[in-house]
Amino acid sequence: MVNPASGVVVGEVAATSLAEVDAAVGRAERAFESWRKVGPGERARVLRRLAGLVDAHLEELASLEVRNSGHTIGNARWEAGNVRDVLDYYAGAPERLTGRQIPVPGGLDVTFHEPLGVVGVIVPWNFPMPIAAWGFAPALAAGNTVLLKPAELTPLTALRLAELGREAGLPEDVFTVLPGEGSVVGERFVTHPAVRKVCFTGSTEVGTRIMAGCAAQVKRVTLELGGKSANVVFADADLEKAAATAPYAVFDNAGQDCCARSRILVQRPVYDRFLELLEPAVRGFRVEDPALDTAEMGPLISAGQRDRVAGYVDGAKVAFTGSCPEGPGFWYAPTVLLADSPADRHWREEVFGPVVSVLPFDDEADAVRLANDTEYGLSGSVWTRDVGRAIRVARAVEAGNLSVNSHSSVRYWTPFGGMKRSGLGRELGPDALHAFTDVKNVFIATEE
Ligand code: NAP
Ligand code: MG
Repeated sequence: MVNPASGVVVGEVAATSLAEVDAAVGRAERAFESWRKVGPGERARVLRRLAGLVDAHLEELASLEVRNSGHTIGNARWEAGNVRDVLDYYAGAPERLTGRQIPVPGGLDVTFHEPLGVVGVIVPWNFPMPIAAWGFAPALAAGNTVLLKPAELTPLTALRLAELGREAGLPEDVFTVLPGEGSVVGERFVTHPAVRKVCFTGSTEVGTRIMAGCAAQVKRVTLELGGKSANVVFADADLEKAAATAPYAVFDNAGQDCCARSRILVQRPVYDRFLELLEPAVRGFRVEDPALDTAEMGPLISAGQRDRVAGYVDGAKVAFTGSCPEGPGFWYAPTVLLADSPADRHWREEVFGPVVSVLPFDDEADAVRLANDTEYGLSGSVWTRDVGRAIRVARAVEAGNLSVNSHSSVRYWTPFGGMKRSGLGRELGPDALHAFTDVKNVFIATEE
C-alpha cells in the first residue's frame, strides 16, 4: 500500500488465494445458518454497537483513509461518519423487515423476506469505506453473511471495519474481508455457487463481465458503475452560485467520483459570463497535503491514474487550470476544458480525474438532448430559477440521481444508483434491503 500524497509505502497486505476464498465461502455458508436465526432485536443491537464503535474510531479510520487513499481529512471524516450512519439506519431494519398477509380463500397467505445466504461485496478504490458499508450493512441486517473484497490499492479501512465488527459482537465468519486480486477473489464470488449475490461497484467494463458471469447461475447482482454526469446551467440561474459550486461537483475526491458532474452545459447567452465566474473558483480550489484541514483536494490514487487523466488533456483546448503541489505524490491540477463538440473524447468518456469539459447549448430541448447523449446515467444537476423547467428537465434527464440548484447525490436514507450503463438496482434508502432478500410466499390451509 502506498500513500498517494508522497509515494511512500504505508504497509503490506497479503493477497487471499483461491483456496482461501473457497474456505472462507464455506465458513460464511455455515455461519449463515446461525446468523439468520439470531433474533431481529439482537441483530439490530450488534449493528448499532458497530455504528457506535465506528463513531468512537472515526478519527483513526479517517486518518487511515488519508494515508491509504489520499482523501482529504475532511472527506475521510465524512466517509467514516457515513459508515456509522448507514449502520445506524439499517440497524433499524431487522425488526421492520415485515412481509404481507394477503387475503385468500381456504387459508392464510403470508410473505417473508428471506435472506439470500452468502453475499459477495466488491469495492473499488475511490470510496473504500462508504461503498463497503452500503453493501455490508443492509446485507447483514437482512440476515445474510458477507464476504467483502476491497480494491487492491485500498484495503486498510475495510480490514479495520471487520475488526470492529468482531468487537461489536458479530459472530465469527459473519463478516469477513478478503483482500486480494479482482481476477482471483472477485471472480470467485461470481463463479462460486454458494455465493448467492454479488454487489459490485466499479467500472462499467468489469461490471458488464460480472453480470454475464452471474447470469450463468441466475445469481442476484447489483451494479454501481461509471458515470459522465451533466451539470446543466440555464441563463436564468443564480450564476454566481452555479459557478462557485461547480468545481466541488467535479473536483471533489480529485474527480475520482462516479457522480462527478464532469460535463458542464451552459446556455449560450451566459456562457462567457459563467466561464469568467468559474475561473477564480477553480484557481482558488485548494489542492494540498490531504492531511491538512484546509485541503479541498488531494492527489490521485496512483501514477497510472494520473497518466490516464493526462492523456485526456493532451491535445484538448484548455480554458484554465488550478494549481497543485510539486514533488512526490500523484498530483494533478484541476483542469477546465472547452469541448469543440459532443464528439470530443474528453466529453464522452469517463476521465475519473479532476478534469471538466464545458459546452454551450441553445434551449431546453438542446440541453436535454446533449445531457442524454451518453451511455451513462448516474447523476446530474440542473440550475434554473424556473420551477417548471427544473422539474421538466430533472424528469427528462436519464439518470438515477438528479439535483436542482445543488449538487447532492448521496443521502443514506434515499435511493442511489444508475440508469442505462451506469448500473442495475439501487443502494441505500428504504428499499435496498430487499435487494438482499428473496420473497417467499407461504399458504397455510385452514379448512378441516
Ligand atoms: P474496477 O477495475 O472495475 O475495479 C472495481 C473492483 O472490482 C476492484 O475491487 C477490483 O479489484 C475488482 N475487479 C477487477 N476485476 C475483476 C473481475 N474480473 N472480477 C471481479 N472483480 C474484479 O474499477 P476501478 O478501477 O477500481 O474504479 C474505477 C471505476 O469504477 C470508474 O469507472 C468509476 O466510475 C467506477 N465506480 C463507480 C461507482 C458507482 O457507485 N457507480 C463508484 C466507484 C467507482 P482490483 O482491486 O484487484 O482491481
Ligand atoms: Mg481496474
